[in-house]
Amino acid sequence: MAEKLVAVKGMNDILPAESAHWEWLESELRDLMATYAYRNVRTPIVEPTGLFVRGLGEVTDIVEKEMYSFEDRLNGEALTLRPEATAGVVRAVVENNLLYDGPRRLYYMGPMFRHERPQRGRYRQFHQVGAEALGFAGPDVDAELIFMACDLWAKLGLTQVRLEINSLGQPDERLAHREALISYLSAQESLLDEEAKRRLHSNPLRILDTKNPAMQGLVNDAPKLMDYLGEASLAHFNGLRAILDDAQVPYHINPRLVRGMDYYNLSVFEFVTEELGSQGTICAGGRYDGLIAQIGGKPAPAVGWALGVERILELLKSQSLLPAAPVPDVYVVVPSADHAMVAAQVCRALRTAGAQVHMHAGTADGQGSMKSQFKRADGSGATWAVILGGDELAAGAVSVKHLRGGADAQGTVSLGDLAAWWAGQAA
Ligand code: ATP
Ligand code: MG
Repeated sequence: MAEKLVAVKGMNDILPAESAHWEWLESELRDLMATYAYRNVRTPIVEPTGLFVRGLGEVTDIVEKEMYSFEDRLNGEALTLRPEATAGVVRAVVENNLLYDGPRRLYYMGPMFRHERPQRGRYRQFHQVGAEALGFAGPDVDAELIFMACDLWAKLGLTQVRLEINSLGQPDERLAHREALISYLSAQESLLDEEAKRRLHSNPLRILDTKNPAMQGLVNDAPKLMDYLGEASLAHFNGLRAILDDAQVPYHINPRLVRGMDYYNLSVFEFVTEELGSQGTICAGGRYDGLIAQIGGKPAPAVGWALGVERILELLKSQSLLPAAPVPDVYVVVPSADHAMVAAQVCRALRTAGAQVHMHAGTADGQGSMKSQFKRADGSGATWAVILGGDELAAGAVSVKHLRGGADAQGTVSLGDLAAWWAGQAA
């Protein structure tokens, strides 16, 4: 036998037992987006590498070490599997002039690729659903996006999710803070871990985000960006807080919330849970007013978030909120290969009437005595078995049997009445 081939490490198959949950969650999300009048956008999974280098920033974790980049063998173009979708959505918006010819509130769903160390809640192919609002400067839209996420937790029944917010101000404010931060951290360089030492002069803000327990004291006392914000930045932040307060949405201000991409400014936020170990951020976002100009569009503000589908599903599972596995309505028992045509006819009539029908297959290969078919019908979870054969079929009818102890336990239905019969059951 040939050597068995396996999937790429950190990239998972999503098999039916789980994909039913995915489809359900995706459909809840589509409904949610519709209630906010956000419209779907689908951008390519492969983009020019330069989009991410320019959009996300050269000294971010993603661009430095997490991208799957390759050269197009045919023309040498530098390409990358998208590590996130905001840059691609912004490219598409600029390229297609949506900022001036709407819609400007968009959402996406799909796979992202990052070369990370695979662990619980962290994969190399993972999935995000994201919402982006382009061309709006005010905190009302920041709040709208936060409301949308809160509505989702409520709709799904999720609890134990905490909202954290912060403001990253504007680039010049960050620059002043950066200097203070570098001199504070440099003075205690012996307390820095390797990662922090490496970032000290390239991206010191990210050090605040460290998960190293040994450095918590150090970063807790570090100069706070909030103290370097000018009037306009503070007004934006307070504007957001006022809307959240008025709507009674609870939040914590986390001065160490900095986010991984360079494109963020002003409001940033994360929804975090303690129930998923160290991968506890289930949704994250913020304002990125500079990104549109950064990738060649006419300057315009924007804000958005992305949620991690795997982490949301894991949290739903741990809170026992996942829906039951789907089951067919009807299992059609087919005694022999000779019944193939009548089976097809019966299934079609029932499906047209709206039933979910599982037809027993395999009798032509000798699979399935009547006894084993009834066992399978029971195991399928179907509510009804429809049985072809015998005297009933000779009289132009099938027998129906309720498999879940229903009132109409057994009966016969003529072939021409199947749709009406199903309509009666479904009502
Ligand atoms: P983290 O700090 O966990 O690495 P991040 O800041 O890199 O997160 P974002 O790029 O903001 O994450 O992505 C938004 C969300 O997507 C995260 O909050 C998380 O739920 C999810 N996510 C990010 N990276 C992964 C991954 N490798 N595997 C699974 N989910 C992920
Ligand atoms: Mg990351």
